[in-house]
Amino acid sequence: MRSDGILGVGRGGGSDQNRATASAVVESRRRWLKRRETWLVLLGVALHAVYMLSIFDIYFKTPIVHGMDPVPPRFSHPPAKRLILLISDGLRADKFYEPDADGNYRAPFLRNVINNQGRWGVSHARPPTESRPGHVAIIAGFYEDPSAVTKGWKANPVEFDSVFNQGRHTFAYGSPDIIPIFCSALPHSTWNSYPQDFATDASFLDEWSFDQFESLLNRSHHDPKLKELLHQDKLVFFLHLLGCDSNGHAHRPFSSIYLNNVKVVDKIAERVYHLLEDYYRDNRTSYIFTADHGMSDKGSHGDGHPTNTDTPLVAWGAGIKYPRPATGHSHSDSVASFVDKHAHDMPTPYDWGLNRVERVDVNQADIAPLMTSGDSGANVKRLEQETDAKIEQLKKEASRISNDVVAMLLKHVTTVKN
Ligand SMILES: [Zn+2]
Repeated sequence: MRSDGILGVGRGGGSDQNRATASAVVESRRRWLKRRETWLVLLGVALHAVYMLSIFDIYFKTPIVHGMDPVPPRFSHPPAKRLILLISDGLRADKFYEPDADGNYRAPFLRNVINNQGRWGVSHARPPTESRPGHVAIIAGFYEDPSAVTKGWKANPVEFDSVFNQGRHTFAYGSPDIIPIFCSALPHSTWNSYPQDFATDASFLDEWSFDQFESLLNRSHHDPKLKELLHQDKLVFFLHLLGCDSNGHAHRPFSSIYLNNVKVVDKIAERVYHLLEDYYRDNRTSYIFTADHGMSDKGSHGDGHPTNTDTPLVAWGAGIKYPRPATGHSHSDSVASFVDKHAHDMPTPYDWGLNRVERVDVNQADIAPLMTSGDSGANVKRLEQETDAKIEQLKKEASRISNDVVAMLLKHVTTVKN
């Protein structure tokens, strides 16, 4: 039986005498319909391709606005000469703050800091809660360029500014997936990362980063040039501690290995602190301890579940306020500081034992201006400028969009026709 095609073709019920003529007419009509069908299918494919491309064109645009003037720092004489950034990869807030089954806290040193020396809170990450977007938010102050997905979240599709760029020199040690993103193209940096699959016990990766840092300071005793550099201002030391992330993936965050890793990073924070305080003895060092994302109960991350988005933040040292007793509402939710629509309404769980100390939550991307200007509100100023630039850009886009769409459609239609 002959197919009638999608447009349908009725049999010409021709008379017997003109059967030959009629069948020739039907045949030519069938061929004409066939051609139309092919044309329709091609047009359908082309239009779908245009729609798909338009999604990339509209949504996969970089959020980075170029040509902005830097927001001047709040202080002409900054209180700190150097900044220590400790990022425990994959450390979720509750496992960090809550006590273990015996009622002992896993991070005694940082808890002591929270109670006596600095500020604490929850840093709210934004999905995708992956390592690269988290680090970009912390170090560069914006939520990841969605077009980075086309490079597998590895390379930078568009170059961007970061805290490291603006410093005098950055020393960074950690995973080969993270450190090169920020340092490989940075001339004023000293960095190192271990080879992939370096250790079987992941907490050893944390120790590796610390050892590198310690040997840097030791080296300076025999290297006058390095010593001179280490005594300059605007230095950043970044230790990336991958242990919790690897152990969380391999053993899940309820495992003793993951929980033990929390103790390891606390110990490292303590050793870094004492090492630097002994080295400089000038009270001009600021410390930030946080995580790029959390870890779900299943040992994965990426989505917007609070186990993935809630990460710890502890800040102390030069220029950072001392703890204040919590008043009424346990943490502030000042509109000025929070730049996205994140919910900050999670009350501090009772078992964290921190209800008496004021909690200061931040959006993850506000850590960058906190590190550079000592003021997470600086992001608001920057955003105002960026919004103006973006509105201007949109106006320009709107004026050319109709012409562009017509040209794009025409191009596709003509390709199909040929
Ligand atoms: Zn990570």
